[in-house]
Amino acid sequence: MIKTLRFWIMLLLTFTMIGILGITSIAGYFVEKENVVDNTLKMNNVFSAKLAQLTEEVFEGMQSQLQVKAFEVSADIDDAEKLTEELDVLLSSNKNFNSLSVVNRDGVVLATAPDVGIVGSKLETPGPKEALYERKNLISAPYQATTGRLLVLISTPLWNDKNEYLGFLSGTIYLQEENSIRDILGDHYATDGSYVWVVDRNGIIIYHPVADRIGTSVVENDVAQKIMRHESGAQKVLNSNGQEYLAGYTFIKASKWGVVSQTPIGVSVKSAADVVSRMLLYALPFVIFFFFVTILLTNGLASPLRKLALYSASLREGERTQTAIPTWYFEAKQLNETIREYAEWQQQTVDEYKERSYTDALTGLKNRRYQEEMIAKWIRHKKPFSLIMIDIDHFKQVNDTYGHQVGDEVLKFLAEKMCEVVRSEDVCVRLGGEEFVMLLTDTNHTDALKIAERLRRNVAAVVCPTNDIITVSLGVGYYHDPEETVDHLFERVDKALYRAKTEGRNRVVLAEE
Ligand code: GH3
Ligand code: MG
Ligand code: MG
Repeated sequence: MIKTLRFWIMLLLTFTMIGILGITSIAGYFVEKENVVDNTLKMNNVFSAKLAQLTEEVFEGMQSQLQVKAFEVSADIDDAEKLTEELDVLLSSNKNFNSLSVVNRDGVVLATAPDVGIVGSKLETPGPKEALYERKNLISAPYQATTGRLLVLISTPLWNDKNEYLGFLSGTIYLQEENSIRDILGDHYATDGSYVWVVDRNGIIIYHPVADRIGTSVVENDVAQKIMRHESGAQKVLNSNGQEYLAGYTFIKASKWGVVSQTPIGVSVKSAADVVSRMLLYALPFVIFFFFVTILLTNGLASPLRKLALYSASLREGERTQTAIPTWYFEAKQLNETIREYAEWQQQTVDEYKERSYTDALTGLKNRRYQEEMIAKWIRHKKPFSLIMIDIDHFKQVNDTYGHQVGDEVLKFLAEKMCEVVRSEDVCVRLGGEEFVMLLTDTNHTDALKIAERLRRNVAAVVCPTNDIITVSLGVGYYHDPEETVDHLFERVDKALYRAKTEGRNRVVLAEE
């Protein structure tokens, strides 16, 4: 079935509305996501800087603790017992170090706290070697100790009064066990999947919430590479599992480590999706409201055209239903006026042609076609009527004497006289030539005879266009028997007229029943 204008407008509006909502949602989603990504990057950058600062402060504290102790230790360098005592005191006074040791300039351990069973042995591991070589305050790169532990060595050189190098005093942090760095960094795992990790100058993980990762290399990691170049900042990064993260990172000068705080990018996606769905939820009542207003408007828009369409369809059926059409906008108003004007003009034209097809051109009386329809109608409605046939006497002579044109004037004269004696519901007909008929509805033969007689007298009473008197002969018949055919009626009346002629003309004769 062909769809209505209303349907198409609704479809268009629905499509537009969904389109706008969709585009707004998508744009909103991307803007929000960008926003969240930006904020998360900034936040992680700030957070990593804060953690880096804290870590740096802890290192500085540890360094200064060792430096303060270094004088005492230098003085007692030859007294192993005293050294052990001093280390015990220092270890118990703070929680920063996992262990403490004094090492002489040959790398031999003089004392430790707690006792890890290495006193007297020579250390060949990278941390101590570096400390012996550099002879300055140091934080070593992470390395595997003789005990098998992964650790970082914080050391300060020992000098005697004569400024001779004695060895170093060092503290260690066991990276894979409870330690002060872990205290600072470890608490920061969040429910959204964010976490913190620390990488050293060589790209080795020093701290990670997953203990197994500590000690592994991440030199391939973008962020690790930046930190190895002593940079700080924020960027998107892929973790070892190929997941995308938003990372903020800060390089720590004291230890040459980098602290990285990172959040899965999925968090920002979810947050953006949340914002968009909340936005849609807030918009929903307005969308529904707007939709209903749209339906009303659509009805208002489509209604005039629909009514006009139905109206023009009714014109085609010839019904002309008179419906009020709301024409509140230009096109509807214009169409309505045009269609109505056209329909009116068409009706007038049809009426005019119909009238013409029923009219005799010369006299303006009704013609034979009209007469036939009228008689058929009266018979259908069972209306009795009388028929009067009129013939001008010696009309040939009029024509011969005065010419056809005067003859025509005489015909018109008779027509006028006929009209004068009938009622509005009666019908005067010129059948052709000089044959005339009067149809008198609801009129019996008595009244019909009177009217016929009146016409005969009226015609004979005044001079006609020939400047002379003309007379007419009339036959009158009454139709009341539904059994009788129209032809039979005409035959009867024709006979009566013939009798009027033969009996001397200028008279009325009633037809036989
Ligand atoms: P009657 O008394 O017997 O009727 O004699 P009549 O001369 O009138 O004879 P009839 O009725 O047969 O006459 C017919 C004449 O009517 C013939 C024709 O000249 C004339 N006639 C027929 N039609 C017209 C017309 O349209 N105009 C004119 N002027 N004359 C017509
Ligand atoms: Mg005749
Ligand atoms: Mg005649």
